[in-house]
Amino acid sequence: MHDLIVVGGGAAALSATSSALGKQLNVLIIYEQLGGKTGQRLTLRSEEDYLVGHILVHLAFPDEQPLGEAQLAGEETVHLFERQVKTRSGVTLRDRVTNVTRVGDFFHVETQRNGLKKAAAVVIATGVTPITLDVPGAKEFLGMGIGYSPTTHALLLQGKTVAIIGTSPRALRGAVELSRTVEKLYVIEPEAVPATPLVEVLQRRPNVEMLAGYQVKEVQGVSTIEQVMVEHQGQIRTLYVDAAFVDLGLHPNSDMVKGLVETDADGFIVIDHSNQSSVPGLFAAGDVTTAFGEQVLIAIGEGARAALRAYDYLLSHPVVYERMATDK
Ligand SMILES: Cc1cc2nc3c(=O)[nH]c(=O)nc-3n(C[C@H](O)[C@H](O)[C@H](O)COP(=O)(O)OP(=O)(O)OC[C@H]3O[C@@H](n4cnc5c(N)ncnc54)[C@H](O)[C@@H]3O)c2cc1C
Repeated sequence: MHDLIVVGGGAAALSATSSALGKQLNVLIIYEQLGGKTGQRLTLRSEEDYLVGHILVHLAFPDEQPLGEAQLAGEETVHLFERQVKTRSGVTLRDRVTNVTRVGDFFHVETQRNGLKKAAAVVIATGVTPITLDVPGAKEFLGMGIGYSPTTHALLLQGKTVAIIGTSPRALRGAVELSRTVEKLYVIEPEAVPATPLVEVLQRRPNVEMLAGYQVKEVQGVSTIEQVMVEHQGQIRTLYVDAAFVDLGLHPNSDMVKGLVETDADGFIVIDHSNQSSVPGLFAAGDVTTAFGEQVLIAIGEGARAALRAYDYLLSHPVVYERMATDK
């Protein structure tokens, strides 16, 4: 029996676990992949060599080298928590959580390989999975010129030709940011482009071509992506690009609490200002929640807050309170 189980291994979960250890809670973190998204990179072809785009916690000025002094990579930041968590014995478990239920005053957390784990409180910090582009070449070039976060890599793409596939609000925000520095930007949307202020901004920029009603058929390249083949009214057109970003939406990894907690229509866990879900004792943090952000720093802050709020909850939990009250 644990005081707290944290589900996830990214910025939010590691920060929550670190805060819980600071409060001397008996905590278990269960994750599929330690580090979460902060370890992901995007490799781009450049004139000299290859450029690697990291997930950054701190953005530098455009003329500074990637990972120069003014830049801090998400993985470096999250590794600090990772080291702290991994050095404690019995705190980590690599497994997939399949289901979470509430039984009396406790939560039952089912794992794929290690059976049932029990805790008085739970933090869900399982992030999101981007909806992928399902065309030939898209999988092969993922990370090699194809990315899922346009805004992150704007600094590496000055003067380049870039395609954004999708027109979600997130994609359009990324497109506006990229359009300020790239030579040419294609915004590809199979349906009609929505009439929003961001679209109006893009339509006024001379370096942006809005391709409404275009379907991506294939991506091609040698070591990194070089061409995006699109189809419009039966005609194939080749777009020559240095990078392409897919933004077809995000799927929150909240299936394990489906039916237990309140989510929005897309499955993001609804939380209040202190990361409490609709179920007492169940907290959530990071990208999987309805909180606005999708940034490493925000995930770290939310993880810490969820753990501290869980600590408060545990102080009034009948079983945990009894143990804490009798601890020397
Ligand atoms: C390509 C890309 C670039 C980005 N660039 C930046 C950037 O430059 N700066 C920035 O601040 N933000 C950036 N972001 C956003 C940032 O990475 C996220 O906001 C942040 O990592 C979210 O952290 P998280 O802990 O909520 O989720 P994640 O990092 O996604 O971690 C989720 C964790 O949950 C685990 N998990 C999922 N399901 C289960 C399960 N069933 N059982 C057990 N474990 C499970 C996963 O293995 C993973 O460890 C970027 C995102 C992407 C995709």
